[in-house]
Amino acid sequence: MAELRQNLATREWVIIARERARRPNAYVESSDRLRTHERVECDPGCPFCPGNEELDLEVWREPNGAGWQTRIVRNKYPALIENGSLIRSFNGVERSITGFGYHEVLVEHPFHNTTLALMTDEEVRAVLQMYLRRGQQIAADVRVEQIVFFKNHGERAGASLLHAHSQVVGLPIVPSDIRHRIEEARRFFDDTGQCVFCTMLADELTRRERLVAVNERFAAFVLYAASSPFHIWIVPRQHRASFLHVSDEELAFLAPLLRDVLFRLYAHLNDPDFNLLIRSTPTKEPENGYFHWYIAIIPRLSRSAGLELGSGVWINPSLPEECAAFLRGDTSAGS
Ligand SMILES: [Zn+2]
Ligand SMILES: [Zn+2]
Repeated sequence: MAELRQNLATREWVIIARERARRPNAYVESSDRLRTHERVECDPGCPFCPGNEELDLEVWREPNGAGWQTRIVRNKYPALIENGSLIRSFNGVERSITGFGYHEVLVEHPFHNTTLALMTDEEVRAVLQMYLRRGQQIAADVRVEQIVFFKNHGERAGASLLHAHSQVVGLPIVPSDIRHRIEEARRFFDDTGQCVFCTMLADELTRRERLVAVNERFAAFVLYAASSPFHIWIVPRQHRASFLHVSDEELAFLAPLLRDVLFRLYAHLNDPDFNLLIRSTPTKEPENGYFHWYIAIIPRLSRSAGLELGSGVWINPSLPEECAAFLRGDTSAGS
């Protein structure tokens, strides 16, 4: 029989289709497609490769000079622009704000044929440091309410350029998706006096069956109520509401764990397309006891359909426990 599982943090339900469940190795991508490490190191037609930098779009490069490691550039076709004025207009059904905001791209590495999974720990740390530094700068703009860090890897995840990059968006509003998560976390805190994410993390560390990787400061696990195959959260073990308050020391622990998790996906599933996002508290909310920042990694392996759109209930045709065992390399999981 299928099983409905609820995500304790979001209260969203998923159907784990036990009988239709495919074994984890059914999700391994075909070797016909060109994997990241099989590309050329430098593509003359790529705007993110060294030599093709569009300097008018550049915000920051690190280190400064010709031999950069990471760069922040304004999106060439930004959804929002930072030098517009912020005007709210509420008129009956017509409720709008002018399109103010930040929309930037973080070029993660000079090479065209790499991705976080294949970088060194130091290189991944440099990317995370850029997320953090630029996020802190954007958060200093009082017009910004929420910063969203995300990454689309591969066409099915929505990437239009192959070269490894992330996006940083500063919004003049708190999105309803974040608001919903905060309200649920606050409700759990009111009921129990605990942070729901700390509670989930403690439970996953005790059970271990869904753990993918863990170190002193961070843990990665496949969600109990994963909405799709291999849906992973990376959660800091120290309670903190905002990613913008993370320390350099913590980043030194996050980098190898993130690289490890992404490398497991790369190696075991053959460079799957995925989205990565950082969920964090709105920029103006103080540190609090109920919200807890985390990274979500969502491989794009199965398609959504009408039920998901119509109800928000996802059907996951895989078992989270088997997916985690497969990524850990437990031999029984793949056969
Ligand atoms: Zn490139
Ligand atoms: Zn917590």
